Amino acid sequence: MTLKFYNTLSRTKEDFSLINKKEVLFYTCGPTVYGYPHIGNYRAYIFADTLKRVLLYNGFKVKHIMNLTDVDDKTIRDSKKEGKTLREFTEFYTEEFKKDIKSLNIVNPKKFTKATDYIHEMVEIIEKLLHKKFAYKSKDGSIYFDIKRFSAQGGSASGGKGYGQLSHLDMSSLKKNAGGRIIKDEYEKDNIQDFALWKAWDEKDGDVFWNTTLGKGRPGWHIECSAMSMSNLGEQIDIHTGGVDNIFPHHENEKAQSEGATGKQFVKYWMHNEWVLVDQKKMAKSEHNFYTLSDLRAKGIDPVAYRFWLLMANYRTRVNFVWEALEGAETALKRLYNLYLGLGDETGNINKEYNHKFKNYLEDDLDTPRALTVLWDVLKDGNISNADKKATVLDFDKVLGLGFADIKTEKIPEEVEKLVTAREEARKNKDFKKSDELRKEINSLGYEVKDTAEGPRLQQL
Ligand SMILES: [Zn+2]
Repeated sequence: MTLKFYNTLSRTKEDFSLINKKEVLFYTCGPTVYGYPHIGNYRAYIFADTLKRVLLYNGFKVKHIMNLTDVDDKTIRDSKKEGKTLREFTEFYTEEFKKDIKSLNIVNPKKFTKATDYIHEMVEIIEKLLHKKFAYKSKDGSIYFDIKRFSAQGGSASGGKGYGQLSHLDMSSLKKNAGGRIIKDEYEKDNIQDFALWKAWDEKDGDVFWNTTLGKGRPGWHIECSAMSMSNLGEQIDIHTGGVDNIFPHHENEKAQSEGATGKQFVKYWMHNEWVLVDQKKMAKSEHNFYTLSDLRAKGIDPVAYRFWLLMANYRTRVNFVWEALEGAETALKRLYNLYLGLGDETGNINKEYNHKFKNYLEDDLDTPRALTVLWDVLKDGNISNADKKATVLDFDKVLGLGFADIKTEKIPEEVEKLVTAREEARKNKDFKKSDELRKEINSLGYEVKDTAEGPRLQQL
């Protein structure tokens, strides 16, 4: 069976084949580093990671790039609020992001690219667009992408349908609305207008500007990803991922300006993950209905349990977040860990039949829910040896990233067990000072105690 992925561009599942026959050129729209991402945002990175792992599992070489947006409307606004330089401000959140993705067992991309390192490359693309008359300078010195002209010229290299092909825009409404210009990075479909490639400096930008051939200013958000993708992966790439909310306007704009500049199809497979909902509404900072990984940790839930919970649904399905569901996932994950720990120390051979099944499910547009059922089946199968089960589980975990290989098998020292019991006692008596002291003592012996709904859980530091 060949790999099949759902391509947002065609709205169908397509067979996967490479552009250059050597390696998968893969770009993921990374975070805007202006705060802690919420767990809904992390779905995009867990999805991209799973996709990458599946490609590697299928023997592909993968060159994966993820950007960090460290200059845009939001980073400038919030760094000023905190009285920090843009760099100081964004570097802090970049480091926090890196710690978070590590705790979700997300494999680092080959490279994280910072937008501010690619200003020159962005300017070059904008120059090309100006030269081809797909862009124009407005009176205030900002430069905009000319949607109508791009569409009139046949626009897109991939099908000639012009602007709106990726997000399936109704072109008649486009004609009606596309008369004006929009300087904001983010906007809705009913506000389609020529978008900013380069924003001329204004007072709100403070000391955030670059003096370039385009004038004094800063890039628009969308051009950043085009420049970072093209500089690191070339003018045409295989896969570009992001959340569904990136389809419009971000990816539509990335596509238009890239294809306008090169005259070539920018991305072969556009892939997008669905939302995480809370009470059937999209989890979003603007809705104030979001949770971060710190909220999970505060409840004693390992971020990997969140990864596991997401894998139980297809990445193209909306999931509704409730704490009980996540706690249920953690309990199930713990059961899997315990079953695994019961297999002993010996590692045998990967079971071919199960491996085949597992692979087949994943090849069908990453059917992780079904792949997980195969994992349970292996662990419960009475007809294969423990050693072979262990090898098979470890093999599956190359894709699942649940951390089976890292579960500590050492017996917990008696001294630690005693401290944990004493701490539980102190907590029951609401003696939090004592319980805190005991926690520190436990830490000093190399263990971390987490309080979960099912009682304390120990982890080695
Ligand atoms: Zn992007």
